[in-house]
Amino acid sequence: MLVLDGKIAAAAVKATLLEQTQALKAAGKRMPHLAAILVGNNGASETYVASKVKNCEETGFGSSLYRLEADVAESVLLAKIAELNQDPNCDGILVQLPLPKHIKESKVIEAIDPAKDVDGFHPVNVGRLVQGLNTFIPATPYGIILMLEHFNIETKGKNAVVIGRSNIVGRPMSILLSSNIAQGNCTVTICHSHTKNLKEVCLGADIIVAALGVPNFLTGDMIKPGAVIIDVGITRVEDATAKKGFRIKGDVNYDEACAKASAITPVPGGVGLMTIAGLLKNTMKAYQGL
Ligand code: NAD
Repeated sequence: MLVLDGKIAAAAVKATLLEQTQALKAAGKRMPHLAAILVGNNGASETYVASKVKNCEETGFGSSLYRLEADVAESVLLAKIAELNQDPNCDGILVQLPLPKHIKESKVIEAIDPAKDVDGFHPVNVGRLVQGLNTFIPATPYGIILMLEHFNIETKGKNAVVIGRSNIVGRPMSILLSSNIAQGNCTVTICHSHTKNLKEVCLGADIIVAALGVPNFLTGDMIKPGAVIIDVGITRVEDATAKKGFRIKGDVNYDEACAKASAITPVPGGVGLMTIAGLLKNTMKAYQGL
């Protein structure tokens, strides 16, 4: 059984990006620059943004982190985005989700210039993705495709099941896996909270992407022998024995899945690291121009 190690695959992506930034530096060019906006102080969001900024530094990118109070007016956030849209030194804009309830997420996403939308959430970029055009692919599904590519996982003609239909993971993942691309060409079934006979659907899958946010949801009896398992879930589960008071759990029962799968992503150390790799690649793409 192959462990699809995100550290290895992400390091390969980052090494290529570092070579590119070093070449830019040698040529006296400006570095790609990512601007991240964090609203409030949600613990998980703080961790994600800090990691994105750190990874920018490691690959030679510039980065700025703008922190806004949890009760910031929506208009202030929109004004910050408008300012960054106009800033010629800023290539990519990322607004860390989720946002506080008084701020309309869709309005914020649509305020970002599609040419700087490195999260790939803007409707223009989603439309381009659906049509198979050059675009910013949402970082998590993009990272998964990069992971499949790195480990030479064959997808053509396979049955893939995606559990979860969110705009940031499940839906774009299902589109990519069904697209006529190297790591696509699957027959895709997308499942959600109203899917009947989920176990039987999963048992027909050669590839399962679990992105629902329910720890240990995918158990061994739902997996066909030899299937490839991609675990997107990240849930903080309280655990008094853990240093931080919680442990990160994926959506897959790892031990049970290992007994059935031919390949599997660990949590942590799998898809999360590839998400950052996808974001960095999108930022380089924004710098170079779509
Ligand atoms: P979401 O809550 O927006 O969507 C969850 C989806 O799962 C929904 O479409 C829902 O219908 C489906 N679902 C919920 N319960 C289900 C059930 N019992 N059976 C079948 N389907 C069910 O979540 P999201 O933003 O897509 O995130 C999903 C998980 O992935 C979360 O744990 C999140 O933290 C994690 N995540 C990880 C990364 C990463 O980089 N690894 C990135 C984004 C999200």
